[in-house]
Amino acid sequence: MRQKNQRNPKRNLELKQAKNKDNQIKVECLVVGQLQTNCYMVWEKETREGVIIDPGDDAEYILNRVRDLEIKPLFILATHGHFDHVLAVLELKTALKIPFLINEKDLFLLKRAVSSAKFFTGEKEALKPIVDKFIKENDRISFGKKGKLKVIDSPGHSPGGVVFENRGVVFSGDTLFKQGIGTTQYSYCFQFDLLSSIKNKLFKLPDETIVYPGHGEETTIGEEKRNFSF
Ligand SMILES: [Zn+2]
Repeated sequence: MRQKNQRNPKRNLELKQAKNKDNQIKVECLVVGQLQTNCYMVWEKETREGVIIDPGDDAEYILNRVRDLEIKPLFILATHGHFDHVLAVLELKTALKIPFLINEKDLFLLKRAVSSAKFFTGEKEALKPIVDKFIKENDRISFGKKGKLKVIDSPGHSPGGVVFENRGVVFSGDTLFKQGIGTTQYSYCFQFDLLSSIKNKLFKLPDETIVYPGHGEETTIGEEKRNFSF
């Protein structure tokens, strides 16, 4: 869920081939669910091994892409526990037999994911995600020969929010969007923490770093720094 430029919630699956400087690592964005969440598939070209980030819904669509691309996801990762980032986790886990990783501080959000989905979108058949392993700041998630994502804590939008960073790319979840930041309208959100995560961590990354957010179009750290008005 985002604070600015929220699109009309409508089901509109679209495929975006994301650009990436490092041509050994491929990124593809699938827009899933009623809140149009960006689910990212990240994989190493040579070994086809990779990860799936924020599978918010439409498990069948994601699985079809995994098959079409002939990739081997090793982990399912979530930037945070909001339902629109995790509703396809259980189906993917079951189909691909791979673990789901998230920060423990967002476990309370996973527990209420099904009721939140029903409340916000009317979705009645959502399945509760099951966690296999908790991730924390500075963990490295490896895939293939050289694929590696570093976990950076970015609380504020939720207590257990993280971003995944590596080699000029950051998957920012609902912490930072193109011309926007995550909402802090709920009791467990803290705007001070969110702004601190953005200014003291994300904005310390090189300006040319590509930002792949949880909703909307990609951007760069430099562009967001220049236009930051929060
Ligand atoms: Zn969120």
